[in-house]
Amino acid sequence: MGEFDGLVAAVTGGASGIGLATARLLAERGAAVAVLDLRPHDVGESLLGVRCDVTDDGEVRSAVEAVRERFGGLDVLVNNAGIGAQGDISANDDAEWHHVLDVNVVGIARVSRAALGLLRASEHAAIVNTCSIAGIAGLPQRALYSASKGAVRALTLAMAADHVREGIRVNCVAPGTVDTPWIGRLLDSAADPGAERAALEARQPTGRLVSAAEVAHAIVHLASPAAAGTTGTVLNVDGGMSGLRVRPA
Ligand code: NAD
Repeated sequence: MGEFDGLVAAVTGGASGIGLATARLLAERGAAVAVLDLRPHDVGESLLGVRCDVTDDGEVRSAVEAVRERFGGLDVLVNNAGIGAQGDISANDDAEWHHVLDVNVVGIARVSRAALGLLRASEHAAIVNTCSIAGIAGLPQRALYSASKGAVRALTLAMAADHVREGIRVNCVAPGTVDTPWIGRLLDSAADPGAERAALEARQPTGRLVSAAEVAHAIVHLASPAAAGTTGTVLNVDGGMSGLRVRPA
């Protein structure tokens, strides 16, 4: 028996990295899983891939409706789709600010709003948002991204308060640097990818990057009926980055 037997989950940004690891783990634990992503065909056969750009309200509504049609309801929503931005406040123009906030913050509101009716009807309703260490601690050269993830943290708490009496739990995870295709792309664009990777590893007290599976396990725990007493929390999965003062090795 899996702890998600009979439950339905949707994971945005579930075609890659943290989202894909989460979608697979939810399926392994018994959930029927839909992946809502720009690239729905990348998810394999055990998951339902649904085309969904979280910045497009029409696509979001259709995707949630597709989940309802296929699986009959929705119990777990993982709002994980996100994009990055580098630099200080001068590095990005207004259009870039609006776009990153649209994907990383408004996207969560848009998908959650579309899913609320189904979640209210569930006896095990849980939302887990993907925040970041950048929303917790001050990181250099991440102004826009940090602003978006700080908003994810605040939105998580606000949603938790608004929906607690309806039986919908809302939590978020705050990963450190995670070994996903996203970080792969960042390293590929560096002048010396090996040195850049070593610098990212040294920044984490554990001396290594967090794995996508480690973040997935945290998300799946928060989403599970076993976490029924937990709402409005931020679970750091950051190799100690936010809380520890350890010299780089
Ligand atoms: P990734 O690039 O490997 O995967 C992101 C997924 O999101 C992709 O499948 C992409 O197609 C999808 N996506 C992007 N824009 C979308 C949109 N508008 N609508 C729907 N889907 C969209 O990234 P990842 O590293 O797995 O990151 C996932 C989440 O984790 C993001 O929210 C990111 O901010 C957060 N995070 C990542 C790290 C890290 O170091 N990798 C650290 C902290 C937080």
